Amino acid sequence: MKIFISIDAEGIAGVSDWEQIRSSGDDYALGRSLLTRELNAVIDGVLMADESADILVNDSHGAMRNFDPAALHGGASSLTGRHKPMYMMEGLDASFDAALFIGYHGSMGARALLSHTYNPRAIWEVKINGEVVGESAINALVAAYYQVPIALISGDTDTIEEFINWAPDVTPAQVKQSITRFAALSLHPEKACAILKEKTAQSLQRDLRALRVIPSFGPQITMEITFLTADMAAACAVIRGIELDKNHKRTAILTGDDYLAVFRSFVGVVQITRSLVE
Ligand SMILES: [Zn+2]
Repeated sequence: MKIFISIDAEGIAGVSDWEQIRSSGDDYALGRSLLTRELNAVIDGVLMADESADILVNDSHGAMRNFDPAALHGGASSLTGRHKPMYMMEGLDASFDAALFIGYHGSMGARALLSHTYNPRAIWEVKINGEVVGESAINALVAAYYQVPIALISGDTDTIEEFINWAPDVTPAQVKQSITRFAALSLHPEKACAILKEKTAQSLQRDLRALRVIPSFGPQITMEITFLTADMAAACAVIRGIELDKNHKRTAILTGDDYLAVFRSFVGVVQITRSLVE
């Protein structure tokens, strides 16, 4: 079995503030430790399902170097570091049997802890075919392109609710509940890890190909990206395939029938916004 893990940080139990998950944060050591524990619990779950599983972990948060690769269980390989062309989905291809979304969070407009959609200082909202989406559904474009099932998603209640419409049979692993954007009610890390291990194993012991775990986005993707300011939308409209919305100055519209190409263009948008706000 070949398993891809995309791990973010905001949806890890016990995390409630940027200070815990930014490298300059005064509590970053705690965030890294909580993240590594959950990651290893998930890997243990994969190994329960298949003790010889081939596992790739793509660090998908911030500067994408949040864990010690030597601390990973099961001989898992890791993809870490910045400027990965496929970002949170770097490394995935059609050879994988399943993808796992760990520590994910809700979209910018959701009532979820540390909510954002890739870049909170630039992107206000993203819609795919008219539906507001979070990073989970955006990243699922890549999984859908390669037809890789998304077996499990972990994070808070809102994150799971946001994704389950797209993949009704994905196994949800809820480790916390958002109270505000900066407060959450978390399970004890030990309990969260126990749940993650068990649910990961269960999620992989199913006939994933027979389940609704690959979102069906239809033959044509229309992605509407609304920014905080009109100039950000205009700057991103230089990318081929992106047009400004004539009725809404802060929105750029990205269309295409190739899910991977749409995702790539979206990554281009994110990279441009980074240069605009940083
Ligand atoms: Zn993150």
